[in-house]
Amino acid sequence: MSKPETRAQWQQLADQVQLRNQCLIEGQWVAAASGRGFGCISPIDGRTLTVVADGGGEDIDRAVASARAAFEDGRWSKRTPTERKQSLLRWADLIEANAVDLALTESLDMGKPVADALNIDVQGTLRCIRWTAEAVDKVYGEVAPTGHKELGLITREPLGVIGAIVPWNFPMLMASWKLAPALATGNSVVLKPSEKSPLSALKLGELALEAGIPAGVFNIVTGHGPSAGEPLALHMDVDGLVFTGSTGVGRHLLQCAGRSNLKRTYLECGGKSPNIVFADAPDLKRAARAAANAIFFNQGEVCTAASRLLVESSIREEFVAEVVKAGRRLQPQHPFEPGAAMGAIVDEGQMERVLGFIAKGQSQGAELALGGQRTLVDTGGYYIEPTIFDRVQPQHSIACEEIFGPVLSVIEFSDEVDALRIANDSPYGLAAGLWTADINKAHRVARELRAGSVWVNYWDGGDMTAPFGGYKQSGNGRDKSLHAFDKYTEMKATWIRLG
Ligand code: NAD
Repeated sequence: MSKPETRAQWQQLADQVQLRNQCLIEGQWVAAASGRGFGCISPIDGRTLTVVADGGGEDIDRAVASARAAFEDGRWSKRTPTERKQSLLRWADLIEANAVDLALTESLDMGKPVADALNIDVQGTLRCIRWTAEAVDKVYGEVAPTGHKELGLITREPLGVIGAIVPWNFPMLMASWKLAPALATGNSVVLKPSEKSPLSALKLGELALEAGIPAGVFNIVTGHGPSAGEPLALHMDVDGLVFTGSTGVGRHLLQCAGRSNLKRTYLECGGKSPNIVFADAPDLKRAARAAANAIFFNQGEVCTAASRLLVESSIREEFVAEVVKAGRRLQPQHPFEPGAAMGAIVDEGQMERVLGFIAKGQSQGAELALGGQRTLVDTGGYYIEPTIFDRVQPQHSIACEEIFGPVLSVIEFSDEVDALRIANDSPYGLAAGLWTADINKAHRVARELRAGSVWVNYWDGGDMTAPFGGYKQSGNGRDKSLHAFDKYTEMKATWIRLG
């Protein structure tokens, strides 16, 4: 399908888009065992898109049993890496052929600009699946440096059944970061998408079946965290649990693993990422535009959002003025509007939560420099203006807690030591950025920042070639790159005595 150009064209396609709403278990589309469903509401206009199966413990049990049977009989796990690669590449081709539908589904379900869904979410998903599929038949085992009389083989084997629990901010992309390495290495999967954005995952499941990934290998149970996610996390027959979401839920999942079978548990959690601008930054106007994009992209609903802007005292006033100028241009619009910089906040609850933080920022004494209001109320959707607070103190709630919305906190610092102290004074350690023309300072500061990704003179660099994940309470383990395979495989040492 050719790419729509106007809002009317996108709307016309949206009116025809087919949305799946049942669980996928053993290759069959099924209602929840309880018969219950929940309304899937579009944040664009508050309209109910469809009623989705509200899966629970019984559905999880069936999906895990299906994944286990598939794993044990080898219908996927015992295919050669090259055969699995070929199926995954076919899957990617089908995703590409359905790119417009998938982008629309994502935008309708969670409110992001449809052009971003197409150019970033779908493209990122394709790149993830293709890169991982291409890698999997090029990874070798090892031979231990043993003595003459023995042979030590170090090999990797799939874990077995993987439970994957993912969030709503990049639903399809976050799912693909788990699905691609899990499936490529031969595991079976039970995916639990977020109840706020379950629809694109179901389309991925449909296309996986069409691509020849056998029934039972990739199962999907839609439903809520406590009723569908938790039984998966507690399940005695799940070997690995991979999660992207909030630090609070991640903490709970580690407890579930401890209370059940010590399943391998890997978490990609929250962040409160510092973006440090030194007075000697090479191009302050570019840095200011980047600072605004780094918080307002995807409505601020990004784990690596640059939500803390640390600015050196001598340039604070002029720099903040530039950021405000750049932020003012990024007003939310209907997500089908060409060029929309921001869309809708995922749901009413999240909108209220963000507005609550804005009220707290004001009551704790920060200076509101831009925005601060709900907007486009007439649409029936949930939109918030790009919001900037100046003169924020590091102890203010808006500087410490993850807001996950379009709210920037500007904090002043006096020198390099002060900047690092403020930047690292956080339970999170997902990402950080710094801007300077001094290469020594860039390396010094980058080394001292306690974060899994550090960007120098830009924000949000990186692709499938580098690992992604957090220090501290931002998580453990890494998605993307060959390092992602570590999470989905056990390492075996086989010793052979040579006669
Ligand atoms: P969330 O933690 O509320 O939900 C994530 C998933 O966990 C959902 O599928 C939800 O249903 C499930 N869940 C909730 N309670 C559960 C429970 N008791 N047992 C099992 N599962 C449960 O997070 P969210 O609001 O969907 O997403 C936003 C969060 O995700 C932010 O904190 C953000 O920083 C984080 N995130 C992190 C990354 C990363 O790579 N580090 C990427 C994207 C988002």
